[in-house]
Amino acid sequence: MQDIALVVLVTVAIAIGYFLGRRSVKSKPATAFPFSLNKTYFQGVNYLLNEQPDKAVDAFVDSLDVNANTLETHLALGKLMRKQGQVDRAIRIHQNLLARPQLDLEHQHQAHLELARDFMAAGLLDRAEMLLKEVIAESLPLRGIAQRYLLDIFQDEREWSDAVYVAEALAQSRFVKANPEKRQEMAQMIAHFYCELAEEAIQKNDTGLAQKWLDKALLADKTSIRPSLLTGALENADGRHKQAIKVLTRAAAQNPSLMAECLPELFNAYVAADPVGGFNQVLNYVESQIATTPSTSAILFMVDQLLLRAQTEPSRQQQAYEILSRYLRDHPSLAGLNKVIALQLPGLSGDVADDVESLQGLVQQLLQKRLTYKCSNCGFAGRQLHWRCPSCKRWDQMDRVKGIEAD
Ligand SMILES: [Zn+2]
Repeated sequence: MQDIALVVLVTVAIAIGYFLGRRSVKSKPATAFPFSLNKTYFQGVNYLLNEQPDKAVDAFVDSLDVNANTLETHLALGKLMRKQGQVDRAIRIHQNLLARPQLDLEHQHQAHLELARDFMAAGLLDRAEMLLKEVIAESLPLRGIAQRYLLDIFQDEREWSDAVYVAEALAQSRFVKANPEKRQEMAQMIAHFYCELAEEAIQKNDTGLAQKWLDKALLADKTSIRPSLLTGALENADGRHKQAIKVLTRAAAQNPSLMAECLPELFNAYVAADPVGGFNQVLNYVESQIATTPSTSAILFMVDQLLLRAQTEPSRQQQAYEILSRYLRDHPSLAGLNKVIALQLPGLSGDVADDVESLQGLVQQLLQKRLTYKCSNCGFAGRQLHWRCPSCKRWDQMDRVKGIEAD
């Protein structure tokens, strides 16, 4: 499809070249039209007829003047080259444009923007960043789009302070302010940038700074689960368990499908806040949550906690089995079946035990192949929760996979 587009575009480009050439010849009949242009033009046609569109592009770039009539064709051809992965050709086309002294300021900015995108595609991020900053400073009409590309660079380079700076400027633009969907998308991104800064601060044991970033993240997006998860962990670490329960239950209520992500810190908070009754409280909490939003991960987490308790309270073993069986009747899953087998196996012996053990091996093989999280935007799936999808690079798109093989 792109090859057809390329042939059409080159044909149009060469037709323009031919037309302009003819016009020049008419106005200056004797010697004004340079022979070299004609020669290159015919070379281009020849390449096209010989199905060598790449060489035809080079011939076109060499032969076609840059002026108001041909500029869009140059830009379109450059974009097409970049889309086809021919970044060096795209760079050549855009640099060729910029080398023309007659290019007005508006078109210079346009060519700078395209060249920056070529550099991004080539992985030359420093050079792209420089050009984009120039466009942002000098071109009001292209500022928003240049900011968006610059934001992509800062995210790829994990330069979170710079990303916050650009994203907050972008969020103030008229285009974003007028579009509720874009506004929400920017708010989500900004919250994640602050969370990334908070995680960096936590790694450096600067919890004060981390909390400052997390407050800003929640200010940017009240519904984001990630700052609440991190805040819950910080509150637990500082011994403020009731505060942790408050933050985490609110986060789970706002994001029921990610309740299992809140559970480890929530469990710690409940048990630490009330060593006597906390365990049963968190158990009741999980059962009430999964009644409306089933989650095999959540029930398996609680089953594991019950089994740990069974070491000192033997009745917890039976309770674990009952809770799991009750849940699996309505929500069968491979992971649940695997756990049931693990619970039953110690009580079996002889051939039956051997058979059940073989069955468990098969179930575990199937479990190893399962992918736990999936991006709702592009379909990328993996076993790890990525806040930013590694494939389509959008934030907050990955969710737990539901179904028998998954959650
Ligand atoms: Zn994706």
